[in-house]
Amino acid sequence: MSEHTPIGALDATVIPRFAGLGTFARIPDIGAVPDYDIAVLGVPFDGGTSYRPGARFGPMGIRQASRHLRPKFHVEFDTAPLEQLQVVDAGDVPCTPYGIDEAVKQIEGFAREVVGSGDRRIVTLGGDHTVALPMLRVAREKYGPVALIHFDAHLDTWDTYFNAPITHGTVFRRAFEEGLLAEDQSIHLGIRGPIYDKLDLVDDATFGFRIIRAGDLDVLGIDGAVDIVRRRVGDAPVYISIDIDVLDPAFAPGTGTPEMGGFNSRELLHLLRRLDGLNIVGGDVVEVAPAYDHAEITCVAAATVAFDLITLMTKAGAHQPAEAVGASA
Ligand code: MN
Ligand code: MN
Repeated sequence: MSEHTPIGALDATVIPRFAGLGTFARIPDIGAVPDYDIAVLGVPFDGGTSYRPGARFGPMGIRQASRHLRPKFHVEFDTAPLEQLQVVDAGDVPCTPYGIDEAVKQIEGFAREVVGSGDRRIVTLGGDHTVALPMLRVAREKYGPVALIHFDAHLDTWDTYFNAPITHGTVFRRAFEEGLLAEDQSIHLGIRGPIYDKLDLVDDATFGFRIIRAGDLDVLGIDGAVDIVRRRVGDAPVYISIDIDVLDPAFAPGTGTPEMGGFNSRELLHLLRRLDGLNIVGGDVVEVAPAYDHAEITCVAAATVAFDLITLMTKAGAHQPAEAVGASA
């Protein structure tokens, strides 16, 4: 915090990190500043889950765990992200737990309002993966088709579940069909576990995805994987979607569809931190289901990853505001 006035309630040297009302990483509430560049937005919806429900509590769990973050300075990125751009917590989208179509409309409408007419961007805290579809629609309106960097154990490009077209396992097929994705510039990382049919992989490739499977990382290494991702997305606007189940259940037990053999936490952080400099226009961290978590393992991972996403976005250009009100410690 250089010359601008710190907000006392957010200062961990005044009020300890475990006390006080909990915005994400103790950043300012959206109502506390006149304008903002990046909004953290909770989407407490899990009506699109196919197995364990509970991601509706994700935003609350991630915010709680994010108290632990010290957001003033990011060591690995060597930057003070909250002084680069104004980051706020925009609260949670009010959405119905009783209908997918209605909820998706509500999420889309609310996100559109948060983005407004400027170049504001959103980091979404899910919620199940369904919530990525309305966020991609809003990103598409502003930036055109995006290159999707998708971290997940699962493809999420299936057609329907029980005849439902919009679910957490079908969002990226819908996104492709709606023209939200830049042609042949998207990639999945961390894919593993069983699929329904070999044809699932054929379909996925026709939607313009490439895949770095979880086991491929052992062969490619971080450098090899990052090189493939960077060549894939080029200079397209990038949306990064992180299903926390990309991590092995040992590192993220609190999720709805766990699959063994995933990335470890350090691998995920290392991959993300090497995506520095891409034109990142939005991102999400989804599928955190705190009821299955232990000792906040998953929620701490999700909070850390969300903060890395914010930091990547503050480094991804955009304008420099006159001053930004961040958390002070
Ligand atoms: Mn998944
Ligand atoms: Mn997913």
